[in-house]
Amino acid sequence: MKIGCPKEIKPQEFRVGMTPSAALEAVNAGHEVIIQAGAGTGAGFEDSDYVAAGATIIDTPEEIFAAADMIVKVKEPQAVERKMLREGQVLFTYLHLAPDPEQTRDLMESGATCIAYETVTDRNGGLPLLAPMSEVAGRLAPQVGAWTLQKANGGRGVLMGGVPGVGPANVMVIGGGVVGTHAAKIAAGMGADVTVLDRSLPRMRYLDDVFGGTFKTRYASAQNTIELAREADLIIGAVLIPGAAAPKLISKAQLSELKPGAALVDVAIDQGGCFETSKATTHQDPIYDVDGIMHYCVANMPGAVARTSTIALGNATMPFMLDLANKGWREACSDDEHLLNGLNVHAGKLTYHAVGKALGIDV
Ligand code: NAD
Repeated sequence: MKIGCPKEIKPQEFRVGMTPSAALEAVNAGHEVIIQAGAGTGAGFEDSDYVAAGATIIDTPEEIFAAADMIVKVKEPQAVERKMLREGQVLFTYLHLAPDPEQTRDLMESGATCIAYETVTDRNGGLPLLAPMSEVAGRLAPQVGAWTLQKANGGRGVLMGGVPGVGPANVMVIGGGVVGTHAAKIAAGMGADVTVLDRSLPRMRYLDDVFGGTFKTRYASAQNTIELAREADLIIGAVLIPGAAAPKLISKAQLSELKPGAALVDVAIDQGGCFETSKATTHQDPIYDVDGIMHYCVANMPGAVARTSTIALGNATMPFMLDLANKGWREACSDDEHLLNGLNVHAGKLTYHAVGKALGIDV
């Protein structure tokens, strides 16, 4: 099979769909890999790295889309890319179709077979191609929170780990899933005093078993939330109710009860945010002040560490990409129900029920 990887064109997207290591695996499995010139530069991969892996460098996206049997990307195809997709071609990338009727219509019209990273499942009920980005965002959250707490950034001027004789920062993490667990581990590793709140008792039992002593857990009742928030220097929002907007867990009125200069890092901003005063920001202008409380609400946090994110995503997508290439999408999906769950659009039809329901399209 001919596998094509174009350069990402969405603004501020520095990741790339295939690492040189993924290209090498595909070449070793007997496939031809074509990569757009400069596709990996933002993630620190040079064209020569791909050539060394046995891939061929191609100048334009038009040539890649025209030649490839399967396109491997990171972000959803932009309008100009969607026009280049064709019947019988496989597209393997993040799609996020539910809020995007325009993209859904274009993909249906293209006739291509579109498999979305975000709906591929695993046998534990998890989302294995979303998890690496949650791990990255979770581990980044205390890092950006520590920066936001610095005086020059409007924060309280508190050091995460304190110093001998001076107590550490008090960090509260709301939501103890993938993002929250990784955030808590890193914050604790920086020396902060960390408490994780969740509404799932089984999850808190797990966290207590594995991390008891490293950080504490508390049930996420409204009362516990505001009590702990009053003491916190840094609050990390990491909740998710699948398929729903994030619940608002700290209101604008409650900001006056927080410590002046406290920092809120709302990782759940891509689901609308879990603080009433959250609004999406960018890496160029990541923080803002509401009533003396500093907010960090970047919607694509993993983009800040494009190299780590690309490699982490590549590790997760590679086995599926190889399966699709080795067997063809039909056999690969019929052998693996979890990969089949990724199928969103095929030959002009929407095939994913939740997207159909969100957009009012029959599936
Ligand atoms: P997850 O499903 O692994 O974890 C979510 C946790 O929230 C669960 O443990 C759940 O029990 C808990 N929860 C639900 N409602 C709660 C409530 N009211 N109070 C306390 N806990 C509650 O999800 P995840 O992968 O950790 O993702 C968390 C959020 O981070 C999602 O909104 C996701 O989209 C977002 N995210 C954002 C970025 C970014 O760049 N901003 C990157 C990755 C993920």
